[in-house]
Amino acid sequence: MPDAPVLSIVIPCLNEEECLSSTTGTILAVLKSLGDENLIAENSFILYVDDGSTDKTWDIIQTQNKEHSGKVKGIKFSRNYGNQKAILAGLTESVNFGADCIITIDADLQQDENKIKDFVIKYKNGAQMVLGIRNDRKTDGIIKKVSALSFYKFMNLLGVNIKVNHSDYRLVSKEIVKVLNNFKETNLFLRGMFNELGFKKDYVYFDVKPRKCGKSKYTPFSLYSLAMSGITSFSLVPLRMVTFVGFSMSFVSFLIGLSALIDKFTNNNPVPGWTTIVVSIGFISGIQILCLGIIAEYLGQLFQEVKARPRYIIETEII
Ligand code: UDP
Ligand code: MG
Repeated sequence: MPDAPVLSIVIPCLNEEECLSSTTGTILAVLKSLGDENLIAENSFILYVDDGSTDKTWDIIQTQNKEHSGKVKGIKFSRNYGNQKAILAGLTESVNFGADCIITIDADLQQDENKIKDFVIKYKNGAQMVLGIRNDRKTDGIIKKVSALSFYKFMNLLGVNIKVNHSDYRLVSKEIVKVLNNFKETNLFLRGMFNELGFKKDYVYFDVKPRKCGKSKYTPFSLYSLAMSGITSFSLVPLRMVTFVGFSMSFVSFLIGLSALIDKFTNNNPVPGWTTIVVSIGFISGIQILCLGIIAEYLGQLFQEVKARPRYIIETEII
């Protein structure tokens, strides 16, 4: 491990024109103070990944690249690929640009940037991966809070032990990035992938601030899609549940049929009326469609993986 590693701060951006100037100023100040303390190398840098912004984000990145030569680099995607792919591209390119370790943080700096020092110290003490864990979810709305917590609980139930409240604020070493690049999947759920890699991990706990510029770029649909990616790429339990539900329902129906027959032959009772039939048909059709839906989620994932298209296209890079 180098004494003063080259640190890259990767920042994915989608339409973040309001945030970029203050974010660059803040992060450069943090890098400078860590450099002064000899914790990181002088040539540490920020790498912005423009994830298909339609506002002035890329222009601002270009201007900042000229202003702070070598300290602010940028990658521009050909279109919007989503924050997970922007992070992956940032990690991969940082290593190509000579980084020893990389921290990913959001453009709105909601995560406490003063903790960057703690990440670096833990890395220097031997951790290959340092995960940021948020202390609470005070800044989230009620819907996001409930859905995030139930998602983590559900994932844990499915046997995927991702750390509750770990966001994408983390440090990884260049060795980890090289290992990660052997994972070729299109549907990325980085929290799950880093969890699966093993290696020596450490944790940093931080507070989340409210967003002070721009608006959240996550829609309920993109959050749903991220959650589905997480579930279907790390657990087969829902598929097994389909088999289990099918089997139990047939078994229960068989028992009910049997008891109705016995009742008919022993007590000469007719099989009771149409309500039972309508309710049970409705119930069973519902379960069948649900099961098909679960299978379709996996099939959809498989469809995308089989095509093995490039995960993202980089249009321009400025270094
Ligand atoms: N982001 C991105 N691509 C997307 C959506 C978001 O690069 O398709 C970036 C965004 O610019 C920000 C980070 O991902 O830097 C986290 O997004 P945001 O702050 O909007 O999410 P929230 O904090 O509301 O969960
Ligand atoms: Mg945010």
